[in-house]
Amino acid sequence: MSLTGDLVQVHAVQDGNEIAAEGDICAVAVPPRLACGLSYQPSLPEPVMGLLGRTPTWMAPHAKVLAVYEQPFWCHQGLSGGGLSMQGPLAEFHDASPSDGEIGAILGFVKFDAAKRESLGKQALEDLVIRQLGALFGPDGANPLSIHMLDWSNETHCASPEDRKPVSNPSLYGRIRDWTPIWDDRLHFIATEASRTNGGLMEGAIESALLFCDSVTQTGKPGAAQTTGANPRTANMSWEFD
Ligand SMILES: Cc1cc2nc3c(=O)[nH]c(=O)nc-3n(C[C@H](O)[C@H](O)[C@H](O)COP(=O)(O)OP(=O)(O)OC[C@H]3O[C@@H](n4cnc5c(N)ncnc54)[C@H](O)[C@@H]3O)c2cc1C
Repeated sequence: MSLTGDLVQVHAVQDGNEIAAEGDICAVAVPPRLACGLSYQPSLPEPVMGLLGRTPTWMAPHAKVLAVYEQPFWCHQGLSGGGLSMQGPLAEFHDASPSDGEIGAILGFVKFDAAKRESLGKQALEDLVIRQLGALFGPDGANPLSIHMLDWSNETHCASPEDRKPVSNPSLYGRIRDWTPIWDDRLHFIATEASRTNGGLMEGAIESALLFCDSVTQTGKPGAAQTTGANPRTANMSWEFD
């Protein structure tokens, strides 16, 4: 990204093709740590880059498992499919079956951190998951049709290598707003981690985006991105969705 006069230019690569765009304002909607890995000309103040790099991406260190069954057999036993466990690789379980009930699915959050997941390897982790499902849900639990695992810490469009560690300092969420305006108010960071009230959550992503839209549309020009005296912590979420 570069600022030339009043114009922000963005160069990117999409499907192997270089693309370019330009405009009055650029809103960066990727997690701060990934934004820290992008290139800015002129360069951003060191504290801004430092803050972007230190701000953890919510949930990025985690991995989820989905066990798929022929049917939600636990429902037939009057059970919810939800659970918590202090033993085994999965810490919590939720019924993730589709509402038509045609198949059953249990979603589990992996308790082991990224380093342990990697050292165990996929097959060993799956074996432990199946053993735990059997211990908690009985023989049917140990017989899924398939097991799917997604390790978010390996998703390069979600997590940076730093995100392999557990989220350490969510109090940094929203702090990027302290550095407004950047590039004459033509560069904004609007991922969920830019939200002071709901940083990390979907609500935070919506809040950040709407605050940005408000700041632009209220005046129709850059320069109004400050939240005009209102404490962003109490910025209300009463925008109407059409
Ligand atoms: C495992 C997991 C579980 C979660 N559970 C919940 C939950 O239960 N409730 C809840 O409220 N929130 C949950 N979240 C958080 C929720 O997903 C985020 O709050 C939300 O997705 C943030 O939205 P965002 O627009 O800020 O960023 P994202 O949704 O991360 O969007 C960023 C986008 O930028 C793209 N991107 C990244 N780098 C580049 C690049 N260099 N160039 C172009 N594009 C790029 C990515 O592909 C992505 O599409 C969870 C997150 C994870 C990972």
